Amino acid sequence: AMNGHSMNTIKKSDKLQNVCYDIRGPLLQTANRMEAEGKRILKLNVGNPAPFGLQAPHEILQDVAMNLSEATGYSDSQGIFSARKAVLQYYQSKGLLSAVDVRDVYLGNGVSELIVMTMQALMNDGDEVLIPMPDYPLWTAAANLSGGTAVHYRCNEEDNWQPDIEDIKSKITSKTKGIVVINPNNPTGALYSDDLLKQIIEVAKAYDLIIMADEIYDRILYDDTVHTPMSTLTDDVLVLSYNGLSKSHRIAGFRAGWMMVSGRKQHAADFIEGLDMLASMRLCSNVQGQYAIQTAMGGYQSMKDLTSKTGRLYKQRELAVSRLNAIKGISCTMPQGAFYCFPKIDPEVYPIEDDMAFMMDLLIEENVLMVQGTGFNWDKPDHFRLVFLPNLNDLENAMDRLDRFFAKKRQQ
Ligand code: PLP
Repeated sequence: AMNGHSMNTIKKSDKLQNVCYDIRGPLLQTANRMEAEGKRILKLNVGNPAPFGLQAPHEILQDVAMNLSEATGYSDSQGIFSARKAVLQYYQSKGLLSAVDVRDVYLGNGVSELIVMTMQALMNDGDEVLIPMPDYPLWTAAANLSGGTAVHYRCNEEDNWQPDIEDIKSKITSKTKGIVVINPNNPTGALYSDDLLKQIIEVAKAYDLIIMADEIYDRILYDDTVHTPMSTLTDDVLVLSYNGLSKSHRIAGFRAGWMMVSGRKQHAADFIEGLDMLASMRLCSNVQGQYAIQTAMGGYQSMKDLTSKTGRLYKQRELAVSRLNAIKGISCTMPQGAFYCFPKIDPEVYPIEDDMAFMMDLLIEENVLMVQGTGFNWDKPDHFRLVFLPNLNDLENAMDRLDRFFAKKRQQ
């Protein structure tokens, strides 16, 4: 019993060394513990519309319910035909430049599963992938888990968080495999100009890189803006387009997402074989969720009612941004898409060393949960992200508390 072997502790694998996902990290665990003690926490941490009373369109629930008995078995590994066809038609209606068919569409358990699958299929040990900073942190986590390295390119806050094209170019090496573009962006809410998207495509073409376009917020836009899918701007770069129903149709729990392969496919047969293999290995995505896709993608998009000038999300955005900017030393750009704010904390006014500890203080002192900027791979402890999904009442309440918290910090 005293031999060393039996005393070994069980450790996580070395693969997880550089993998982190703080949106559901220590802050959330503390919040959950506080709730178990009977406290009410205002949670502005996760982009999950349903719990905030943003209900799924009724027709989708009906359609899924009606097809429930059809959805009990495994489907084709890439997904059911009608859903994949609807995905193709969606991109074709937006001006897709290259020829695609249903074999180019993969349904996944949310975009999340497809991000992990892509990185596993693409990356050898030591390969690099360019990922925005700040980012939706699953991209970085999945790249590092695959044995590769996430290399972050800068998005410029002064330039409304547009990607810095010179920074992208300067970070390309012989190991770079692709560029991730998140547009509209989480956490900044930025929507990118066509000109900038074309510049990124030119870089990808010049260096033979894959483009991974995470466009899950493309139907959540404010101020009459228009989103351009990257697949409609090129036919000679390999573009992987990611999207799904978690946000636009408020059914994150159904895990309905997809990825479409378009553009320069003829040179990617081997990689695509890898994707097919990984799709087969996980058998298929949640089939009930697949049945939501065809209904969701056709016809009127109800998200427009929420983001128009009279809509709930629009009003919540206005409130969040104006209340943030009214706090001394806090500044926030206007998000053009999605439902996040990523405000800057002036380090002259609030000298923060550890932004997670700072957000932990906010949680414990004011019972408000938000995520620190470094959780989105931002390189300085001077930002945080909040979700403006709560109704105006709760949002006012959260902003009052935030106001009070920062006032107290100024006096310390
Ligand atoms: N991509 C981005 C940019 C996101 O913000 C999210 C969720 O927050 C996802 C992907 C994953 O979404 P899902 O797996 O529900 O499709």
